[in-house]
Amino acid sequence: MGEVGAVGEVEAVERFRRRIGVPGLVDVHTHFMPERVLRKVWEYFDAVGPLTGFAWDITYRHEEAERVAILRQFGVRAFTSMLYPHKAGMAPWLNEWAAGFAARTPDCLHTATLYPEEGVAEYVRTAVEAGARVFKSHVQVGAYDPTDELLDPVWGLLAEAGVPVVMHCGSGPAPGKHTGPEPVRRILARHPRLPLIVAHMGMPEYTDFLDLAERYDEVRLDTTMTFTDFSERIAPFPASELGRLADLGDRILLGSDFPNIPYPYVHQLEALERLGLGEAWLRGVCYENGARLFGL
Ligand SMILES: [Zn+2]
Repeated sequence: MGEVGAVGEVEAVERFRRRIGVPGLVDVHTHFMPERVLRKVWEYFDAVGPLTGFAWDITYRHEEAERVAILRQFGVRAFTSMLYPHKAGMAPWLNEWAAGFAARTPDCLHTATLYPEEGVAEYVRTAVEAGARVFKSHVQVGAYDPTDELLDPVWGLLAEAGVPVVMHCGSGPAPGKHTGPEPVRRILARHPRLPLIVAHMGMPEYTDFLDLAERYDEVRLDTTMTFTDFSERIAPFPASELGRLADLGDRILLGSDFPNIPYPYVHQLEALERLGLGEAWLRGVCYENGARLFGL
């Protein structure tokens, strides 16, 4: 693998786009956040290697402007700034930062986040009114119950506004007290029109989350890290589910976890391609589904 953002990788991504026939990529799961928060996240990944035995070397450890430039070189037409609080009181500040980032980065979909706390319905409404296009909820890092009654009006509000929420609700790579499909099932029973994007395809509870996507039209799944060599070692996607993956093709969205990935960006794309589900499926996943969802 060459130097990051190196011509070789840019060309490899461009060849992929040309092969499948898309004008660009829509990546619903990329991380941009205030510098000191991102440093903390990187420190976490640096420490995780020795703990798990899986080295997690962040490939795109660059300054913000360079990270944005790399996505543009890859032909990513729209991306997000997934950010998330680990405690109360952080979300409004993160949302303010994300609004500023989206304002100075027109190809970033204005992203916001939430936490079960007093005032959450108000600041979520404020963010939606300010133009937030997508939310992030991190059930594992936040260590909260997504069925917390403080969040119930929030799910209702997002369902009504048609604003999707990317939720890290699967139990991979590390389980949390409230991860797994059960809380999500309860949310969807109450809010069947909630546009929910299950991060990482729900890894490792792929089957349960595919069930939910089959049952609810507004449930989608993002591909983030799934199908890569890295994840296949830890939580392989079951071959028995490839048929449903094909059938739900219009509900699968490209996500990458850029920049925090321990391999080059193009590997996520090639991991999707080697599933063998065809170019029409890849076009949907890598561009059309996201373009339709966000009205690009
Ligand atoms: Zn992520």
